[in-house]
Amino acid sequence: MPVSLSTRRAPDRSGAVAQLPGGLCGTEAPTDLAPPAAAPSRSRPSVEGAGRIAAARRALLDERRQLTLDELSALAALPDGDVPGLAALAHAVRLEWCGDMVEVEGILSAKTGGCPEDCQFCAQSSRFESPVRAVPLLSHDEVLSAARETVDVGATEFCLVYAVRGPDERLMTHLEEVVPLVRRETGLQVAVSAGIVDDDQARRLAAAGTHRYNHNLETSRSFFGSIVTSHTWDERFATCRLVRDHGMELCCGVLLNMGETVGQRIEMIGELRQVEPAEVPVNFLSPRPGTPLADRPIMGALDAIRWIAVFRLGLPSVILRYAGGREVTLGDLQAMGMEAGINALIVGNYLTTLGRAPAEDLRMLADLRMPIGALTKVL
Ligand code: SF4
Repeated sequence: MPVSLSTRRAPDRSGAVAQLPGGLCGTEAPTDLAPPAAAPSRSRPSVEGAGRIAAARRALLDERRQLTLDELSALAALPDGDVPGLAALAHAVRLEWCGDMVEVEGILSAKTGGCPEDCQFCAQSSRFESPVRAVPLLSHDEVLSAARETVDVGATEFCLVYAVRGPDERLMTHLEEVVPLVRRETGLQVAVSAGIVDDDQARRLAAAGTHRYNHNLETSRSFFGSIVTSHTWDERFATCRLVRDHGMELCCGVLLNMGETVGQRIEMIGELRQVEPAEVPVNFLSPRPGTPLADRPIMGALDAIRWIAVFRLGLPSVILRYAGGREVTLGDLQAMGMEAGINALIVGNYLTTLGRAPAEDLRMLADLRMPIGALTKVL
């Protein structure tokens, strides 16, 4: 059965078609498109903020040096009135370090639910009472059909996501067949997200033509144990290292708003610098029913803009991608995020839920006069 990126849904336990939450092996899926947080009132820019932003501008644009984590902490602590200035600097840094191109990606959940891991944000974990029903591995034809739809919406990158702890031999064989198939038949760059890999698996994935491998650190090392107990942050870190060792680009994302502190978000930036990702998807928690984080509040839209900007200022050369939770978190401020440091986005569905229509995102990029094209890490 063909799988549509724009229409694919999975049935809930009652048999009804439902939007489903997704996990973060690839990208946290957004929830149904609930109303965004109310617009915050904004104070005026502060004198102190103007000074810190000017100093950061000199460092990043004139001296072309990375900010220290202390400098980033000071920027992250600025009052709301300074967020537009922070966003404007982040946009200028993105243009200077990465250019004006925006990369568009389609992702496909090629094996959904039933994951044995216990990531507390993830509705694909078999340990929680979420409405997600496990769906087995998609066929080659289903994957290819979804890839062709990705081409039709103008994407250059196609990410296959599997809800697993790591690939077993059956999945490895599948990947060694579908990655070259999709590349050959569509011309798309193919990314894979299949959990923790060992050295030989990383070698085989690279040999199959995997362009990027996604493996998220999700959160800081100091907070990870509060969110996941079935594997460690160090295991994730080791997989990230193997990806680069075998010549694939690393896509390594974060999920914000799980209860981490401001300091732990800055810690994340420092840890991402250690694994040198080509791409960093920024996910915002979309609390999923049945998961331990179901009752967490959604992040405020202005705060999300602040953190997009801080991540860009901390990681000036990466492909910073809008990922899961952006619709519900940012609402009408999604275009502002594109001018706060973002230079890539996922269009169509996320893992197992629907994003907004691809046409809306493409219209947003056209309105912003942002050209679409393939990106690779600048440095
Ligand atoms: S490892 Fe499993 S539970 Fe954890 S984010 Fe990935 S799919 Fe979800």
